[in-house]
Amino acid sequence: MKTIGLIGGMSWESTASYYTLINQKVKAELGGLHSAKIGLYSVDFAEIEALQHANKWDEAALILIDAAKRLEAAGTDFIVICTNTMHKLYDQIQAETSLPIIHIADATAEQLKEDGIHKVGLLGTRFTMEEDFYKNRLQSVHGIDVLIPNEEDMQSVHNIIYKELCLGRVESASRETYITIIDRLYEQGAQAVILGCTEIALLVRQNHTFVTLYDTTQIHAESAVDIALT
Ligand code: GLU
Repeated sequence: MKTIGLIGGMSWESTASYYTLINQKVKAELGGLHSAKIGLYSVDFAEIEALQHANKWDEAALILIDAAKRLEAAGTDFIVICTNTMHKLYDQIQAETSLPIIHIADATAEQLKEDGIHKVGLLGTRFTMEEDFYKNRLQSVHGIDVLIPNEEDMQSVHNIIYKELCLGRVESASRETYITIIDRLYEQGAQAVILGCTEIALLVRQNHTFVTLYDTTQIHAESAVDIALT
């Protein structure tokens, strides 16, 4: 079994989900007392969030490059960055480590294509929904059309992530807000909706909506296990 290197802490609420999901799948695949071999480097999210909102992405990249190097020194075999947003820095980080980094949007796109989905709604932080680094990868590399919420909805989705979910707060009013926004994306033609932020599944689950959801945390964690076990 290969050792999975996790860059976590963004936020730790979702890194805990990764840890659980990875171990559950290893147990399901191998049975008995088997569990995953994991190296985890967890950052201080307050530092990262401040750099994101101050538009100091190069400084944030240095923190994640340092994390990748520590995982490399610790002997992990590949890297999983446990957040969608920080894939904005994927190329910068990948250039500084010899370990492969499993891209969260690629893992998600593979699943979408397998299921025949070619037009999808995307929820995540403003950075993920609005900027090109994520949408373009889905569109140009994988041929999947992406719909994002309108301005007001995008702001609500973003605020709920940073002001509630990353702090461990799960509010039913916010769940209603998300479900309404998911419905709107569906009405606009999305065949499914990507939960493109690793905390969203703490709030919205498949049983809350008839619209098919793709949880990037689960998909990313499962693809890490597939790689670890081959
Ligand atoms: N975990 C979130 C994501 O998947 C947001 C936190 C962050 O900005 O990294 O995008």
